[in-house]
Amino acid sequence: MLNWIFYGLMLICGYTVYRVVLKIRRQRKHLDDETLRKVMRNNIRDEPDYDDVIAHLGICRKCEKRLYELTDKE
Ligand SMILES: [Zn+2]
Repeated sequence: MLNWIFYGLMLICGYTVYRVVLKIRRQRKHLDDETLRKVMRNNIRDEPDYDDVIAHLGICRKCEKRLYELTDKE
């Protein structure tokens, strides 16, 4: 009986780790120009992955730089 509880917990733990890894992977993906333009025009809030985009900009110097370059250009 205890074994089943243990396996259940392991399963939940595994699933949680899997979800976190997926989220990190999504955040590590570089943003495309279209998304950066949306951020620039501040109409990214309607996007479902708004949190991921902002999180990525927080950790990625490359995309941050590209965002500034786009801002300079337009
Ligand atoms: Zn990036």
